[in-house]
Amino acid sequence: MSTRYLISNARYLVTVNENNEILENTSLLIEDGKISAINPLKLDLSGLEVIDGSQLLVMPGLVNSHTHLAMTLLRGWAEGVDLQGFLEKVWVAEAAIMDPATCALGAELGAAEALLSGTTTTLDMYFHPESTHAAAAKVGLRHVTGPIFFDKPSIDGLTWDERVTAAHRWPQFLEEVGGPFIPTFLMPHSVYTDSLEHLHEVSSIASELSARIHLHVSETEAENALALELYGRTPTELCLDTGILNSPTTFGHAVHLSQSDIDIAVTKGASVSHCPGSNLKLSSGIADITNYMKQGIVVGLGTDSCSSSNDLNMWAVMRLSANLVSLKHGAQNVDLAHLLRCATVEGAKALGLEDRIGSIEVGKEADLITIDLRALHLTPVHNVLALLFYAVDKSDVKDVWVNGRRVVKNRELINVKSDELRARVNERVHTLH
Ligand SMILES: [Zn+2]
Repeated sequence: MSTRYLISNARYLVTVNENNEILENTSLLIEDGKISAINPLKLDLSGLEVIDGSQLLVMPGLVNSHTHLAMTLLRGWAEGVDLQGFLEKVWVAEAAIMDPATCALGAELGAAEALLSGTTTTLDMYFHPESTHAAAAKVGLRHVTGPIFFDKPSIDGLTWDERVTAAHRWPQFLEEVGGPFIPTFLMPHSVYTDSLEHLHEVSSIASELSARIHLHVSETEAENALALELYGRTPTELCLDTGILNSPTTFGHAVHLSQSDIDIAVTKGASVSHCPGSNLKLSSGIADITNYMKQGIVVGLGTDSCSSSNDLNMWAVMRLSANLVSLKHGAQNVDLAHLLRCATVEGAKALGLEDRIGSIEVGKEADLITIDLRALHLTPVHNVLALLFYAVDKSDVKDVWVNGRRVVKNRELINVKSDELRARVNERVHTLH
């Protein structure tokens, strides 16, 4: 398989660089996993695959900064419920089927869906991360995950001590699996599933391993009320008290942050993964990301799981994000260039990957996608950003590279047979009914 690609004469090259440049009729060279040149002057043709870009838009792969990939297996399983009702329904189904092999199958399905829709990186919190990571990496996704922490033995049956052991082993495990670089993450689920003592312990392990932390924070008003009732503190304040925020932390959701919470997040450099699809569907509320960003919080975008938003479509999340800003702050305040950064390089920043991915710049790792511009619903192009937010959808993604490896070619996965995967999934979930 070729390891060198030239996307020749791309109609649009959406760089998401510092100046948000959109170049026209520009060529891009991918070599040794990296973006090695933009408009290369001299070309060594050996082993080079040339792709005609004249009808293509090329851009960085999307970064989904909060999801639970294996829950693709529970798509449509818990409908017509709020977060509490959702959790109750889902936890029963998870207990019934989510063993390591099934989690791997769900992650494989999720990774396949993500890549086909143009997402090249996901921040994935789920049980049995060894199994899910090996499966998703095999599909070709830049799959960022880490050991998960619950007080009680959950569906994975692990005791607290076993979770701690798994965390210490995690960096070694990542080396063994290989694949695209991912940072070390630890994932305590939330302040309502993990005691303060345990959160404190996770923060110590994170410092020891130089790990980052991902957890759910202030997803609902009920979560805030519970924290205030039990501890007299908000979830963000509890993260501060327990030392969680001494490590770079990504808050999942953060729908309901107080001004004091925002101040803490800014001071400690915590970032937010905005998941409007899930938040609207579960009636959790709407995060005011314009306000967060104005005050200095890094905001990425996420789908949340396929049980709460039913697919991993980041284009839908982008469109919702833009429309919600418009509703709250007026159409003139929708900054699509910055929202595109949220879907790419700011999302990468939330994961500690901004030096490697998230924009098209020479020297960065080649996580790239192409959009086929020949579709009638993408014609004509008066405004490239408006096209990306309000007209492009997941099925318009044509080719995908992760770390310079092509993983989707002409809308087909390279490392997975879709028919065979579908059959395995349907057979496995059959027992739920
Ligand atoms: Zn979540």
